[in-house]
Amino acid sequence: MAVPQNKISKSRRNMRRSHDALVAANPNECPNCGELKRPHHICPSCGFYAEREVVALATEVDLDEDAA
Ligand SMILES: [Zn+2]
Repeated sequence: MAVPQNKISKSRRNMRRSHDALVAANPNECPNCGELKRPHHICPSCGFYAEREVVALATEVDLDEDAA
């Protein structure tokens, strides 16, 4: 197993970790329903992208329409 030749000082270790912080998400408001959504992603609450519906929500699809 590879073993570090020299001890990494607390200073060098902490300097390396200075870039490890997570950055917060930057949500946009959906122009259709107003929910916050990820930029460049389909709105998870209404299925719209670029102000048109691209994904039908499960609540809107009637699976029993042939049975009636
Ligand atoms: Zn939406």
